[in-house]
Amino acid sequence: MERDGSLPDRSTGAAKVGSDREGLELALAEAHAALALDEVPVGAVVVIDGIVVARGHNRTRTDCDPTAHAEVLALRRAAAVVGAQRLIGATVYTTVEPCFMCAGALSHARVARVVWAVRDPKFGGAVSLGSVLTDPRMNHRCQTAEGECADEVRALLRGFFEDKRRKARESTDTPDLS
Ligand SMILES: [Zn+2]
Repeated sequence: MERDGSLPDRSTGAAKVGSDREGLELALAEAHAALALDEVPVGAVVVIDGIVVARGHNRTRTDCDPTAHAEVLALRRAAAVVGAQRLIGATVYTTVEPCFMCAGALSHARVARVVWAVRDPKFGGAVSLGSVLTDPRMNHRCQTAEGECADEVRALLRGFFEDKRRKARESTDTPDLS
């Protein structure tokens, strides 16, 4: 079923996105929601016709689900909102370069464009370790963009992992018995 271009304003408060920065700022807000759950802070939003149709943030620990990445959760919700398995014309904003799984899901969803803030040298499947979104052999290719909001996203991730390392150090220190 084709969209008619007049998505109703439902389920997400109908936030409007007029630029990549605005889209990534909303994704960053989702990353903060992940942080509040003590999850690796990654967030994503799906935008169609300039309107946010779905949001998602990493919930792998919370849901005990290795596939509960921000992009996958946002795609599932967007598909439910649109009522179609394909999100033709959608732009997905995500704080971190999609992993191979998410890049595959974005390709299956036929999204038009994927925008991320920072690359992921250990898991990135879009440019860092592979080119799932743009490989000419793929059935579907997405436009991509990156770099906006990179400082904010990097600071959030750095703070999260520094905190984790500090807590790990503290837990291995000799307990204070005084
Ligand atoms: Zn992923």
